[in-house]
Amino acid sequence: MDILVSGAGMAGLAAGVNLSRAGHDVAIVERAQHLRVNGSPIDIRGESLTVARDMGILQDIVARRVDMTQRACFVDGEGHRVADLPFSEIDDSPDDTEIPREDLAHVLRNALAPSVPVTFGESIGDLRDDGRGVDVLFASGARARYDLVVGADGLHSATRRLVFGPEHEFIRHLGFYTALAAFPNHHPSDAPNPVYNFPGHMAAILTYRDVALTALTFRSPWIDYDYHDLDAQRRILTAEFGAHTLWRVPELLDAACRDPELYFDSVSQIDMPTWHRGRIVLVGDAAHCASPLSGRGTSLALTGTWLLTKALAEHSGDIAAALAHYERAQRPHVTYAQGTVGTGGNRLVPATAADIEARNRELAQMS
Ligand SMILES: Cc1cc2nc3c(=O)[nH]c(=O)nc-3n(C[C@H](O)[C@H](O)[C@H](O)COP(=O)(O)OP(=O)(O)OC[C@H]3O[C@@H](n4cnc5c(N)ncnc54)[C@H](O)[C@@H]3O)c2cc1C
Repeated sequence: MDILVSGAGMAGLAAGVNLSRAGHDVAIVERAQHLRVNGSPIDIRGESLTVARDMGILQDIVARRVDMTQRACFVDGEGHRVADLPFSEIDDSPDDTEIPREDLAHVLRNALAPSVPVTFGESIGDLRDDGRGVDVLFASGARARYDLVVGADGLHSATRRLVFGPEHEFIRHLGFYTALAAFPNHHPSDAPNPVYNFPGHMAAILTYRDVALTALTFRSPWIDYDYHDLDAQRRILTAEFGAHTLWRVPELLDAACRDPELYFDSVSQIDMPTWHRGRIVLVGDAAHCASPLSGRGTSLALTGTWLLTKALAEHSGDIAAALAHYERAQRPHVTYAQGTVGTGGNRLVPATAADIEARNRELAQMS
C-alpha cells in the first residue's frame, strides 16, 4: 500500500520503520524543519521493550540508557537536599530503560529504510477519503493519493482535527503545564538532579551525560493561546515564574526563555472513542496521549505502531478489519498507561506550602 505518515516524532518514525519493513511504500511529512529531538529523556517500559527487541533496536536503546530520573532529589530555597524521589515507586521493572529523546529519534531514524522519504516543513492541509483512497492536499500546495494515512502528529494533531473534530472534544487537561529547555551554563556531573518547589510550581535542573536541561512545571487551568507562538509561551512562563527569586529560578526561567527549541505544553491526555475512520488512522499521542506524568507515551507509540503493522498484515486487503484489530489490541495498553498518572502531579508539584512540607516529611520517612 501507499501510506502517508504525518509527523516524524517517535510514533511517526516507528510507523515508518515498521510499515516499510512490512513491504509498504511509506512517505513521512514533518511540520518542523528538522527532527524535534529536544525534551527530557523518556522511558521504554513493559511491552514496548519486547516490541523494541522485535524491531531490532533494543540493543541500541539499552546502549544509550541514562539514569536521570533516578538521581532526582527535592531541595529547599537554599538548594539543600530535603527528600529523595521515590524511584522504586516509578520504575516497574529493572528492564525499564530511560533514554534521551534525541537518542531514540536517531535510533529510529537510522532504522528507517533510506527509501522512505521524510519531508520537513510539510504538513497535511486537507484530505478527502472517497472509500478507495485518500486525496491529500499538502500545505505546500502539492497533491497526492494514498491507500492509508497515519496521523502521528502528536497531542495537537492536525490529522485528528481534520478527520475527527476539534481538539477540545478529546483533550483532558490534567491541570499542569510543563516546559523543557537547554540549560547551557550548567556543567553536568553525577551529582543529584535538584528539584525545587514553591506552591503550585516546580523548577528543576535535569542532567545526563554532558547535557543540562531546565524543567519548569506549574499548576494552571486550561490556557487559551496559539501553541505555535513561542513568544506567548515565554510570556506565560514569565508570568508564572518571573516574580520568584529563590533558589535558581531566575536563571532557569532565563534559559527557558532564550531557547528557540523550548518545549512547552499542557499536561493533558487524549481520550477518543475510536482512532480510525475509513482509511485514516491515528497513532501515538495523536490518538491517546497519556501525558508526561504517565512516563509511558513513547512506549505506547512503539506498541501502537507495531500492532498497527501486524494488523494490516493479518487482514491484508481489508483495511476496516485491520484498523479495528489494531484498536482492540492497543486499547488495553492505553487504558493502563493513562490510569497510571494517579497522584504523581501532586507529589511533583504540591499546591500549597503545607503540601510541600507534608510531601517532604512523607518522603523523608520513606527513605
Ligand atoms: C519537542 C518535544 C519534546 C518532548 N519532550 C517530552 C518530554 O520531555 N517528556 C515526555 O514525557 N514527553 C515529551 N514529548 C512527548 C513525547 O515525545 C510523546 O509523548 C511520545 O514520544 C509519543 O510520540 P508521538 O510521536 O506520538 O508525539 P510527538 O513526540 O509529540 O511527535 C509528534 C511529531 O509530529 C510533528 N507535527 C505536529 N503537527 C504536525 C503536522 N500538522 N504535520 C506534520 N507533523 C506535525 C511534531 O513536530 C512532532 O515531530 C515531547 C514531544 C515533543 C514534540
